[in-house]
Amino acid sequence: MKNYFTRRGFIRTAAASSAALTWLSARSGPTVFAADAAKPALLGGKPAHTGGWPKWPDWRESWEPDILKVLRSGNWCRAGGGPGKVPEFEEAWAKLLGAKRSLATASGTTALITSLHVMGVDAGDEVICSPFTFSATYFAILAHKALPVFADTDPATLTMDPKSIECRITERTKAIMPVHIYGMPCDMDPINAIARKHKLAVVEDSWQGWLAEYKGRKCGTLGDLGAFSFQNSKHIPAGEGGAVTGMSDELLDRCFAYHNCGRANGTFKGRGLFTRGGNYRMQHFQAALLLQQIDKLVKETEVRRANADYLSASLAKIPGITPVRLPENSRAVWHLYPWRYNPEGFNGLSKGQFCRAMGAEGISCGGGYSEQYNDGIFDETINSTGYKRLWSADRLKAYRESFKDLKGNARACAETVAIYQSMLLADRSAMDHILEAVRKIHAHSAELVKKA
Ligand SMILES: *Cc1c(COP(=O)(O)O)cnc(C)c1O
Repeated sequence: MKNYFTRRGFIRTAAASSAALTWLSARSGPTVFAADAAKPALLGGKPAHTGGWPKWPDWRESWEPDILKVLRSGNWCRAGGGPGKVPEFEEAWAKLLGAKRSLATASGTTALITSLHVMGVDAGDEVICSPFTFSATYFAILAHKALPVFADTDPATLTMDPKSIECRITERTKAIMPVHIYGMPCDMDPINAIARKHKLAVVEDSWQGWLAEYKGRKCGTLGDLGAFSFQNSKHIPAGEGGAVTGMSDELLDRCFAYHNCGRANGTFKGRGLFTRGGNYRMQHFQAALLLQQIDKLVKETEVRRANADYLSASLAKIPGITPVRLPENSRAVWHLYPWRYNPEGFNGLSKGQFCRAMGAEGISCGGGYSEQYNDGIFDETINSTGYKRLWSADRLKAYRESFKDLKGNARACAETVAIYQSMLLADRSAMDHILEAVRKIHAHSAELVKKA
């Protein structure tokens, strides 16, 4: 089941699917497997949820004066340095995460491209990253004409399996790029230890990791540099936008130069165009929007966490459903809230059929990421003139073959079911509706299989 789920398609369905349905009272209690349990909507029962879901993005009228102020100031672009909303946001973002510095960028993609350049990733290098992610993760590596080498995914955590990293290191490996997917922290201690041992950089793809925590520290401050996205669907959106975070002034000054057409600043003042670069700058309009949302992000993160914990406690009791495991002493922020689905617990009801049945209950859910490396993008890559110039034919052939070894990732793609973050901002009764829907589908799975 390929591409059952795409983020944008999913948001559209989430918004549209719950309009015309009627309400069914939620049953609480851990297990409702009795034959008389209310029927699934697909079998003619009443949908579990009809109240709709919080829309996203979401704004306040009180934000308008600050946005207007930027408009009327004529100071829209931060290229010349000087005061404005962008540096103000950078300071606030770094403070919120406990990072030494932050650099705002035009997008998450440009934040990552900047970070990789500053950590020395160049044409012909290899970067070890996670395949269970949005394509932009490895597009940032490809933008440098470097090779994204996929570590395997631990299906229990959906993040990079640290045990699968070392066997993929070659003399060309420059960096490891763990992805805190869905806002679930990667197990960073073993990843950092491997990086230190082999003298590799660690760039965190923290695009979905706003305020996620690992052993008391925030994601984005655990490696050499971290990259965030503020794209429209994200927990702190500005239409487009991103940020690099880090603990070193020198690295952040290099990032600043790269994102500002190579112009010197800070540590490098007076050195002119000392590095390559481009225009990857954020506008003051974006920063004005982001500054309004910091308190909102903090509050909503707690709501998502509480509702996710509530769902996990009950979902864990349903045969065939397994909540995702987090590293010890870590806290996720749930850009999506995922669980593992095993058809064996549901009389063989396929994941696609399960998701359709949930949709009929007024609860849109999707199937996580697909095995994108089978889509053709890497055939195009390794057959390009640039990649053929930079790697031997043998290496590229072995690279293409190596996707077959990603057994954990194949399983993660096959088993994941997820709901979208804004659903976790609904009230507790809506969480009960989600649980009720899963229990109904479980109790009637044999009939649903027959009907399909
Ligand atoms: C949002 C997101 C991106 C893309 O970031 P942009 O800001 O759209 O460039 C890439 N990877 C992941 C995992 C994301 O969540």
